[in-house]
Amino acid sequence: MGTMIKFCGGAGTVTGSMHLLTADKNKVLIDVGLFQGRRDEFYAVNSQFPFNPSALNCCVISHAHIDHCGNFPTLVKKGFKTKAYLTPSTKDLCNFMLLDSGHIQEEDTKYINKINKRRGLPPRQPLYTKSDAIKSLKKLRALDYHKKFAITQNIKLTFFDAGHILGSSIPTFDIYTNKGTIRLAYAVDLGRPDLPYLRDPEVPKDINYLIIESTYGGRERPSIKTVEEKLSKVINKTVKRGGKIIIPSFALERAQEILYFLVRLLREKKIENIPIYVDSPLAVNITDVFKNNWEYFNEEAQQLFKKDLSPLANKNITYIQNVDQSKELNNKTGPMIIISASGTCENGRILHHLKNNIENPRNTITIVGYMPRNTLGRKIFEKQPAVNIFGRPYQLRAEVAVIDAFSAHADKNDLLRYIKECGRSLRQVFIVHGDPEQSEKLRKSITSLNIKTSIPKKNETAHLSPV
Ligand SMILES: [Zn+2]
Ligand SMILES: [Zn+2]
Repeated sequence: MGTMIKFCGGAGTVTGSMHLLTADKNKVLIDVGLFQGRRDEFYAVNSQFPFNPSALNCCVISHAHIDHCGNFPTLVKKGFKTKAYLTPSTKDLCNFMLLDSGHIQEEDTKYINKINKRRGLPPRQPLYTKSDAIKSLKKLRALDYHKKFAITQNIKLTFFDAGHILGSSIPTFDIYTNKGTIRLAYAVDLGRPDLPYLRDPEVPKDINYLIIESTYGGRERPSIKTVEEKLSKVINKTVKRGGKIIIPSFALERAQEILYFLVRLLREKKIENIPIYVDSPLAVNITDVFKNNWEYFNEEAQQLFKKDLSPLANKNITYIQNVDQSKELNNKTGPMIIISASGTCENGRILHHLKNNIENPRNTITIVGYMPRNTLGRKIFEKQPAVNIFGRPYQLRAEVAVIDAFSAHADKNDLLRYIKECGRSLRQVFIVHGDPEQSEKLRKSITSLNIKTSIPKKNETAHLSPV
């Protein structure tokens, strides 16, 4: 039978990462991400698997982003019986991320069923519920970085740090065959150097095959080091006119990153001493996971924690879980910073803050993440003169500031450097997790390195062999 990898999802596109590694009779699923698309496609793609979930030996989850772990509850619903391996921080994060995802599926189904009822259409079932998500958590098994562990009788797994978000890993597989060993690494997603809290991405030794992401395969991104200056300018300008700074943010990593920079600016007295509110139950829970996992941080961030200078426990920061406290923010005046989710402004408490603040020219809405097409966030990013919130039009009079230096993904140069650092053992690179144009640009740049490279299509299979 030999050794092969089937690219079941996140091939030719960014979301829904899922790959099946087969080594003789053993089958290991690498990532089980949610594919994000329009509603019908979302349901069609995520509710089926191109393999039998009950025949898998185990599953390996690279990190806690929903496009990498978010379809695990469906896998369990469809008969997956064994264990999913992930790092300890990823396990802690999944507790909140998967439950939140189950909640979103339920809410979305409620909304669509209201419309279906009016149209005389039959009701739908959610892809999975919060209770399905809770059931699936029992199958998660934490495995620390750098510990080689036998996950089947012929495959050993080691996690290396991907430096992408807290807990992110590069699962590396030693596959033992009767003709020799194959070493395969999965760098999807791959971070970039110098990110707050995170250690720089590690390069596992002696890799023969590499699966790598290409979100920014053809683009260069500004360095994260430029964030501080840009952020302080936005804040100082808004404070001068007595306005509020509203920051829609992803609850995982981006919110904590912003806090890191804000606290540094406060400490260096580069911004006024103003209150910071984190108004998102998910972001608050995730911040607690950060606080409990600081031993996985980089040296600099660990020192801050040891010296009681944690950027997550500053006196200016108030974490808000309950709804009444969230509503009270509307009555508070004076300059303040409000960080709220969802990051794309599609749902969550950020909608209330936008509704209350968007028509006041003293305020600034600060965009710190990618806004996909057709989202409210995108409309604000494009500075459309009027936008709909909760079905009512609002004039966009607040200033819109864009800080584009936040990115947890390696850019074109980072990716090329990473591949180069893999050294001479590397025989083939598979490019996944990117729009076709970005993947193709990365492939072209790799040709200069003289390494066999391909961009597998969805459900394509590649054979791996020992050197
Ligand atoms: Zn990711
Ligand atoms: Zn991803």
